[in-house]
Amino acid sequence: MSDCIFCEIATGKRDSHIIQKEYGFVAFLDIDPYLPGHTIAIPNEHVQDLFSVYNQDKYLDFCKRIIYHFRNKSSTRLVYTFIMTHKVPHLGMHIIPNVSDSFRDSMDLLRLRGGYNGTESLNQVYDYYKMMK
Ligand SMILES: [Zn+2]
Repeated sequence: MSDCIFCEIATGKRDSHIIQKEYGFVAFLDIDPYLPGHTIAIPNEHVQDLFSVYNQDKYLDFCKRIIYHFRNKSSTRLVYTFIMTHKVPHLGMHIIPNVSDSFRDSMDLLRLRGGYNGTESLNQVYDYYKMMK
């Protein structure tokens, strides 16, 4: 679909920090993260809800592999997930690695929204979480 940022990322027309990519799906760092490492996993096809994905099981397996990867990277082994399409009308599962042992601290951080401090910080987070070499 034209004018869709996620479609542009899926087709490579827009640069992004790609965490993982498989046939039909791509996951990339959210540039406006709730917490560092906040990733959005999308199907390449422009659909607005989970029930419209052509291969729903493969999409969910793709998301699960990223969640497991983030669990292994996180000291707390807790990963937040939610599906949201209100900002961009293209299905995306938001996958957010936890950064604190304290659930309350994590909730405070989620409310504060932890953006990146410039490109260097974004690149450090990318190097830590990316699954592709
Ligand atoms: Zn789209």
